[in-house]
Amino acid sequence: QGGGWREWIYQALSFLVISCPCALVISVPLSFFGGIGGASKCGILVKGGNYLEVLAETEVVVFDKTGTLTKGVFNVTAIHPDTCSEGQLLELTALAESYSDHPISRSLKEAYGKELDTSRVAEVEELAGRGVRAKVDGAVVCAGNDKLMDEIGVSWHPCHRVGTTVHVASEGTYLGHIVISDEVKGDAALAVKALKERGIRTVMLTGDAQPVGEAVAKELGLDEVHAQLLPADKVAQVERLLAEKTPKGKPAFVGDGINDAPVLSRADLGIAMGALGSDAAIEAADIVLMDDQPSKIATAMDIARRTLRIVRQNIVFALVVKALALVLVAVGVANMWEAVFADVGVSVLAILNAMRALKVRKE
Ligand code: ADP
Ligand code: MG
Repeated sequence: QGGGWREWIYQALSFLVISCPCALVISVPLSFFGGIGGASKCGILVKGGNYLEVLAETEVVVFDKTGTLTKGVFNVTAIHPDTCSEGQLLELTALAESYSDHPISRSLKEAYGKELDTSRVAEVEELAGRGVRAKVDGAVVCAGNDKLMDEIGVSWHPCHRVGTTVHVASEGTYLGHIVISDEVKGDAALAVKALKERGIRTVMLTGDAQPVGEAVAKELGLDEVHAQLLPADKVAQVERLLAEKTPKGKPAFVGDGINDAPVLSRADLGIAMGALGSDAAIEAADIVLMDDQPSKIATAMDIARRTLRIVRQNIVFALVVKALALVLVAVGVANMWEAVFADVGVSVLAILNAMRALKVRKE
């Protein structure tokens, strides 16, 4: 062999230039930033590049019902008092619910319509997934579902109407019930269809009654539904899904944060509704849909998959060109110019490719 010092140093420097990892170090984070930027243009707030990675591999999407798939705006469909008048029942319920921010409470207050004298209400207690308990004019009033009635030992009777039933009891005696119903979001069926097209399983978890849950699931074409769940049961359901999944395809949970903030933070990927959702949900979630449209999940998924594709392209492109340049320099075919291309040239091309992640197709 042989060769002078000059030659060896020249070759060593060429190697050094080629092996500089600029292309990877710059383009990979840039692709993720591009993906996050592209998503934000569609009203999807992603809190970090790693969530794009998880979203791209998600195989199950778990939805909450109220406020997520449905509008969370209930209409009163029937008032069935047992002992008092309809007006009294509604007033008492609205008073008991006056301090709650649950969609049901807001709707009942809306249905009552008149100004509420909140000085009549004291010792309010919100019972997640069940209802509320409050002292109205000194009497303990409970308003909520059958679980709450069973818990306080009040005998209630079901309603023939399908809908969410709010039972009301005062001082341990049953006063009657109010039936309310929610509408599904116009966008929800589209969201489920789009996810199915992408091969994603859809599950709904709700604290509402079984018939209501089933009706919604049927209307939207969901794969699975679990009803009458307390917030802790929702966590248990998500744990079950986490356990049965392969380490790759992690389930994502979509909720509005009312009674499901624990699940949002437990799931690997929590997606919250930005406008309807509670502050706790927006805080706990990893992705926030600013306009509350569940169909944006499919959009986010497309963006995530595309971003990861671009990242992979850049990694493969940079490594292949660099390996090739190293071989060429080693056998003496290439010189410093090729080495510079393998460093700066590849970086520029990878950056240009990464910038594609910023572009999203808007439908
Ligand atoms: P979802 O899982 O559908 O989002 P929630 O967990 O918020 O529903 O509530 C579950 C059920 O608990 C409701 O369907 C309702 O029967 C009862 N409930 C919860 N909060 C209230 C409330 N403030 N007033 C009356 N009922 C309530
Ligand atoms: Mg909810």
